Amino acid sequence: MESLWTDFVNSDYHDWRGSGRSENRLVLSSWQHAFLGKWCLSAPIPALEDDIRVLEQFRGRLQQLAADLSEGGAMAQADRDWLNAAMSGGLITRQLAGEGSELHLSMVPAKQEWTQVMAEVAADFAGTVIEGETVRIRFCENSDCRWVFYDDTRNRTKRYCDDKMCGNLMKVRRFRAKKKAEAIKDNG
Ligand SMILES: [Zn+2]
Repeated sequence: MESLWTDFVNSDYHDWRGSGRSENRLVLSSWQHAFLGKWCLSAPIPALEDDIRVLEQFRGRLQQLAADLSEGGAMAQADRDWLNAAMSGGLITRQLAGEGSELHLSMVPAKQEWTQVMAEVAADFAGTVIEGETVRIRFCENSDCRWVFYDDTRNRTKRYCDDKMCGNLMKVRRFRAKKKAEAIKDNG
C-alpha cells in the first residue's frame, strides 16, 4: 500500500540491488511532475531551490519520526508542533462534489505551492498517527534499499518492500553467504 507521505519520503531513493547508488528524486522535474499528478496536487515545476531545501529538511525529519514511531516510540510535543507548523502552510476550501447519492463535501487544497504540498504530506502522516497505523510502518530490511511502506499483512510479517525484488535478493545473499561459509570450513 502506498500513501502520499510514503511516496514523498521515497523520493530519497537508494538502489536496492546494492550498487550504493542513491538518487534524490525530489530535485528532478520528472519526479515532481509525476508526484503532483498522482496525488492531484499542483505547484510550480521545477521547484525553486529554496523550496527544495525546505522540502528536503521536512523529508529528513519525517523519515526520522516515521522510523521512531514504527519502532514503538511516542510522538513528542516538539513533533506535534513541527507537524502543525507544516500543515499551517496549506489552505483548504470546501466544495460540493459528486452527483446524487455520491454527493459529498470535498476538501480541496487551495494553494498551488510547494508549502501546500508539504501541508498535504504532513496531514496524510498525521492521519496515519491518528488511526494508530504507525505500527505498520516499515523500512525495507534490505539495508541498501530502505524503502518505506506499510505492512498490510495480517500478522505484520512483511520485511521487504517487494518480495520478488528485495525479498529474493536477500534470499540469494543469505544462500551465497552460507555457501561461502561452508567452502571456507571445507578448505580449512
Ligand atoms: Zn526494498
